[in-house]
Amino acid sequence: MPISGEWFTPTGLNFNAIHVRAKTEWVHLALSDGNGIVGQGEITSTQLARDVAPVVARLANNLRGRRLTDDTDVITFNNLSVEQLEEDQNLATAVSGLRCAVADALSQLLQVPMVDYLRELYDHEGKADRRVQLYSNINRSMLPDDNGAVDRSPDSFAEMAQRAMEDWFTTAKCAPFDEARAPFSKTGLPREAEMGLDRIRAAKAIIGLDRKLLVDCHSRFDLESALALEPELRQAGAGWFEEPVDPIKFPDDLREIRNKAELPIAGAELGYGVGLFTKLMEDDVLDIVMPDVKFCGGPVEAYLIGRELEARWEGSVSMHCPSGPLSLLASAHATAAFGNKIPLEHAVYEVEWRHEVLEPFENVSKGFLELPDEPGLGARVDPVAIAFRGRQWTE
Ligand SMILES: [Mg+2]
Repeated sequence: MPISGEWFTPTGLNFNAIHVRAKTEWVHLALSDGNGIVGQGEITSTQLARDVAPVVARLANNLRGRRLTDDTDVITFNNLSVEQLEEDQNLATAVSGLRCAVADALSQLLQVPMVDYLRELYDHEGKADRRVQLYSNINRSMLPDDNGAVDRSPDSFAEMAQRAMEDWFTTAKCAPFDEARAPFSKTGLPREAEMGLDRIRAAKAIIGLDRKLLVDCHSRFDLESALALEPELRQAGAGWFEEPVDPIKFPDDLREIRNKAELPIAGAELGYGVGLFTKLMEDDVLDIVMPDVKFCGGPVEAYLIGRELEARWEGSVSMHCPSGPLSLLASAHATAAFGNKIPLEHAVYEVEWRHEVLEPFENVSKGFLELPDEPGLGARVDPVAIAFRGRQWTE
């Protein structure tokens, strides 16, 4: 390996969580040595209300006092197999957070930004772009807040889309099918999908033909209803068809949908490891895979997924990131390192103070995230933000 000679010896571990809105918290871990190096990672569990911190603490115990020279030491020193990580979402989240923290610490010790560390680690030619294009996920801005439910009418979708376009985003994404959940009582297009289609039409009317509206279906459909929905989505102006069914649990159904669909099929946000994402592409299950830095193995694994898959199928990797600013930053380093062809997901307008959670502030402007110049991730979760909006603990 061309970049080596440094090691990180963690001796301390703590956790913090920022209260975002309603049930949403951004949860982070911090691994520290005795010399002022702190590596961080986000372990927010978006899908399952599970507590990942005790798993992190158990795994980190086997790292304490050891010389770590590579983020995969988290796996080796805990004797974990890829099969375990593919099957256990909680374990995959804990490992991804720890691998992120170790990569953050190692790149700080080497005094390079993580994007450069990733490229040097794998002899990647050339300089990475430090401005990372984002797409706006408007969905989380219309989830319940601390005062209760928020307007999710087609007009509200149109307003949020308008705001995103005024902020220079060229692509928006929404998850509009609140009312739909398979199985459905009638064959063909389910009645429960009609409100979702209205929301899409309203948003698309604002977004226009030269900009994109991506549609996430959160695995709410089944084979038959997804096939009936696809032409409707196309007519409504959708730019992609994300997870009509779960691609990891039901790859055969998704392959059939992809065969018959004209829209590109995206998904697999809960997948772990380059092997799984490669297989989904080789088996023609998806057009676009969506590794999430919090579940896929962290930024080094995300970089590997992007690098390997983009070389074989151009435009096939779009990182999933409906999460907090630390995760967006780690995703941006990985995405910039492999030279993404598709903008990176960014959950906009969830809270107005989002940028203040990091120190220095998260820097998003005109639809791009600017990577900081400092070594490692280049920012930390601000202790002031934790004091005002969250909590801190040890396990
Ligand atoms: Mg999704």
